[in-house]
Amino acid sequence: MVVVMAAEASEADVQAVVTLVETAGGEAFVSRGVNRTIVGLVGDVEQFGALNLRGMAGVRDVVRISVPYKLVSRENHPDRSVVRVGGVPIGPETMTLIAGPCAVETPEQTLEAAQMAQAAGATLLRGGAFKPRTSPYAFQGLGEKGLRILADVRSETGMPIVTEVVDAHDVELVSSYADMLQVGTRNMQNFALLQAVGGAGKPVMLKRGFNATIEEWLMAAEYIAQRGNLDIVLCERGIRTFEKATRNTLDISAVPVAQGLSHLPVIIDPSHSGGHRELVLPLTRAAIAVGADGVIIDVHPHPEQALCDGPQALVNGDLRELAKTVRELPPLVNRTLTRA
Ligand code: PEP
Ligand code: MN
Repeated sequence: MVVVMAAEASEADVQAVVTLVETAGGEAFVSRGVNRTIVGLVGDVEQFGALNLRGMAGVRDVVRISVPYKLVSRENHPDRSVVRVGGVPIGPETMTLIAGPCAVETPEQTLEAAQMAQAAGATLLRGGAFKPRTSPYAFQGLGEKGLRILADVRSETGMPIVTEVVDAHDVELVSSYADMLQVGTRNMQNFALLQAVGGAGKPVMLKRGFNATIEEWLMAAEYIAQRGNLDIVLCERGIRTFEKATRNTLDISAVPVAQGLSHLPVIIDPSHSGGHRELVLPLTRAAIAVGADGVIIDVHPHPEQALCDGPQALVNGDLRELAKTVRELPPLVNRTLTRA
């Protein structure tokens, strides 16, 4: 952290800053330039934040140099992490395909979608039992009944389950079934939920808020990490822009940016970003090319009957191409498709 003194600051103003920082247990290094003096601080940045340095006489600005998210930052952990979900790795050497229905609707639909996903190369099954819907009149998910269906399909297929939790009170229940807890875009800054999943002892997939900056996303991850859980996978799922041709604008550059700032794996959701079936394969290719550690894709055996997000679900006819894409492209960027 650096304190920039005003040009008219007196020597006593500079000394007051130094004394305050030293009293708080930090070190202060004074550099006197031609026009102004700056004071470099070494020590606990959070503690310096509480000193109200900005309000002191002669202080022009206080500039933070290190990142505010410590535990998830690459600054503190240079090697990129691998997160394991029921034994399936998500990390820098692999490309993991997560696929399944947007929502669990029936046992038959869920099993069929899981088999479609597996045939395309997916090693993890997605499916929502608790759905965070924009409209209160829309299908809200089957709740615990849906979780039981997911557990049955896991037994049948061997695929570990990724499923969303929307309320801090449900974390224990959802954790008793899930292999990975998903926190959705609408809940990225639900801090009580983030803390609860941080304490649940299960890997977490944290979707980026559709109106969140990358820094806010990483701060949300820090809430989870701060509770002792570093098994976090970041998911870019598109952000809101002026563009209406897609459901959301896939921020493809968020992948290398987040990977540069954080050691956590970063995956892409081409289904919720594109919002149209035709866009899912092109965006999946882009995800692999840009270096995403995985993709999460909606599939449905009968999208015309889907209770949620039918227009973006891949159908049987799309799977051959998806399977080819996830098998052939990763080796071009030094990765292999994760195998079960
Ligand atoms: C989902 O994956 O089912 C979902 C609701 O996604 P998002 O939170 O990104 O909208
Ligand atoms: Mn959905």
